[in-house]
Amino acid sequence: MKHVEFFEELRKEDVAIAGGKGANLGELTNAGIPVPPGFVVTSKTYDKFIKETGIFDEIMDILDASDVNKNKELQASSVKIKKIITETTMPDEIKNIIIEAYNALCHRIGKDEVFVAIRSSATAEDLPEASFAGQQDTYLNIKGSDDVVRYVQKCWASLFESRAIFYREENDFDHSKVYIAVVVQEMVNAEKAGVMFTVHPSTGEEKILIEAAWGLGEGVVSGTVTPDTCWYDKEKNEVINYKTSDKKVKFDRDPNTGHTVKVDLPEDIREKRVLSNEEITQLSKLGKRIHKHYNFPQDTEWAIEGGKIYMLQSRPVTTLGKENNNPKTEESEERIIITKGLGASPGMASGTVKTVKNTDELDKIEIGDILVTVMTTPDMVPAMKRANGIITDEGGVTCHAAIVSRELGIPCVVGTSEGSKILKENSTVTIDGSKGFVYDGKLAEKKDSKNNESTHSLIPNPPITVTEVKVNVSMPEAAKKASQTGADGVGLLRTEHMMLALGVHPKKFIIENREDELVKALVENILTVADAFYPKPVWYRTLDAPTDEFKSLDGGEDEPYEHNPMLGWRGIRRELDEPEILRAEFKAIKKLHEEGYTNIGVMLPLVQHPDELKEAKKIAREVGLNPQKNIEWGIMVETPGAALTIEDFIAEGIDFVSFGTNDLTQYTIAIDRNNENVAKLYSERHPAIMKLIAMVIKECNKAGVKTSICGQAGSMPDIVEQLVELGITSISANTDAVAVVREVVARVEKKIILKAARKALQE
Ligand code: PEP
Ligand code: MG
Repeated sequence: MKHVEFFEELRKEDVAIAGGKGANLGELTNAGIPVPPGFVVTSKTYDKFIKETGIFDEIMDILDASDVNKNKELQASSVKIKKIITETTMPDEIKNIIIEAYNALCHRIGKDEVFVAIRSSATAEDLPEASFAGQQDTYLNIKGSDDVVRYVQKCWASLFESRAIFYREENDFDHSKVYIAVVVQEMVNAEKAGVMFTVHPSTGEEKILIEAAWGLGEGVVSGTVTPDTCWYDKEKNEVINYKTSDKKVKFDRDPNTGHTVKVDLPEDIREKRVLSNEEITQLSKLGKRIHKHYNFPQDTEWAIEGGKIYMLQSRPVTTLGKENNNPKTEESEERIIITKGLGASPGMASGTVKTVKNTDELDKIEIGDILVTVMTTPDMVPAMKRANGIITDEGGVTCHAAIVSRELGIPCVVGTSEGSKILKENSTVTIDGSKGFVYDGKLAEKKDSKNNESTHSLIPNPPITVTEVKVNVSMPEAAKKASQTGADGVGLLRTEHMMLALGVHPKKFIIENREDELVKALVENILTVADAFYPKPVWYRTLDAPTDEFKSLDGGEDEPYEHNPMLGWRGIRRELDEPEILRAEFKAIKKLHEEGYTNIGVMLPLVQHPDELKEAKKIAREVGLNPQKNIEWGIMVETPGAALTIEDFIAEGIDFVSFGTNDLTQYTIAIDRNNENVAKLYSERHPAIMKLIAMVIKECNKAGVKTSICGQAGSMPDIVEQLVELGITSISANTDAVAVVREVVARVEKKIILKAARKALQE
């Protein structure tokens, strides 16, 4: 076995040395398929590297010592091992083998240095490569021998990505027996590229599916670009259907740096058809040849440069199931994805597409329909309640549609960018609110759809935890279901939805001297929640009204237009500018307190300076509320400003803080939470956010101020685990997550006690 093999030397049987990808490229090359030239740094080289440098034992020791069921430990071990592999100097002998192969490749192509793609290619015994797919690295546009060596090393490290480690542990694979090969292949500077399935990927029908976009194939494979789709009849040899999509961006090689860059496409190119009929025919011919060669349907990647087609990869279609060739029934198992977005509210739901372009059209939504719109607005809530599922073009997982649908228990997919344009009115679709997929036709509904009571929320005899587990409520009508979770109170009662359900802008009530009507409506709504939870605490959050969401209300015509409403006139800053509304809210709370609902506390949104807290308290006193004396009083920590100066807020006087991680995330990492273009970067798991939270918990614990969380991160088990370890006082989760969160909290608390007991025994 050699340390490096050119594709010409490899066959499909050579998986053990070349990995699945490498062996396949060898097989294709030898079958006469146009594959860009390249070589494989075989598993023998990896083995030599880890053994000769002595890091093998070091790696195994780290793995032996870590408990992969502890997320933090798993992540830490993965980081440590990857660092060891990438930072250990490669012995000259190994380095030279790789450099010589690279130079030979350049020589063959007739250039001093060529751009190459470097990909890991797993070879684990008995391990289908698909299990590793997506966990291995791909580096594009690498040039020069030093960089080639460096990226080969990085690919080796990918064998110890945390998910790969976890997968092997879960499946009892021996870490010491997994190897990795690395494919180094000339980079095609594609003008167009994409994927091709040599049969219908779900039904196995004899139709070829090609997806195509401009530039490198990265855009299609990563899902960043919605590609053109083309169906080709293999028997009649003709294009059955070609759908051109709006391809907003493409991936290209930057001519100066050689790096892959994402480029916005001009209007006239975006919607232009990518493939000619001639190109489709040529591609299909190649597809048929490859399929025949392997005698099995193939899932391939292709690229076109200078009019020449290259096949970059081919592997068996793994999506084919027992449903192959099933006749299409009314409740079909055929899964054709029409569009994708972000899974915002879990569950599967089928129904008739009804696209709502403006609020005048809301009446067309009947019970069981799928509501499709650019973005939901609060006045759509009644129609949302009738719908079986919701699909939006815009938004991330904390947008209006996402929050409301989670609370209503309606499956929802947001940020499809095209749903309202491409979904056919009155057609039947099925949405998967977990994966973010929209399928053609009616698929069998899963147990977790809205028609089934949430099983995990209603567990009898839930564990008792010291850290309180509360629930978020946005709509009073959802309070009963929320209280049935047995939650320890309401950690966030949002006002926006109840205000907006009135259909009239709160300012209009004030202008028309109808403040009493506003107060009355608020009292009724808050009472429904306070009653359902009495005597458990309910933290009422004062109005956080972004201008864009309130515009459609009667009286909202004068809402200013803002470029980025998320950074604009909302939260406490707005309420202090319009104190009449805040005063009305405080009057409602006072009335409820007078009626005995002293379980209601007040929480101020989006504060960034203690003066805002001070001013709000002053207004509360004017209406007869006495912050911190007869009413629990707190702030949301949603801005890095508030987090970093928490001691000043404590000094001004608060009973509690609650982390609004939906906003804290967007302000900390500069990602507009409602902008689907950047949604993929939106993550509460960015370490900066936990740093801010940890700091605040520490300061608050010192001062005896309670801490809580009510953002979406409070429903994420791994984050909850960290928060309990940090000593948070309570967690407020979504209704459907309360039971799971409670279990996580109980387990972490037990671990903490156990650890302390063990330590005490040792002392
Ligand atoms: C938050 O920002 O995390 C939060 C709970 O508030 P909202 O989602 O209503 O802005
Ligand atoms: Mg917020």
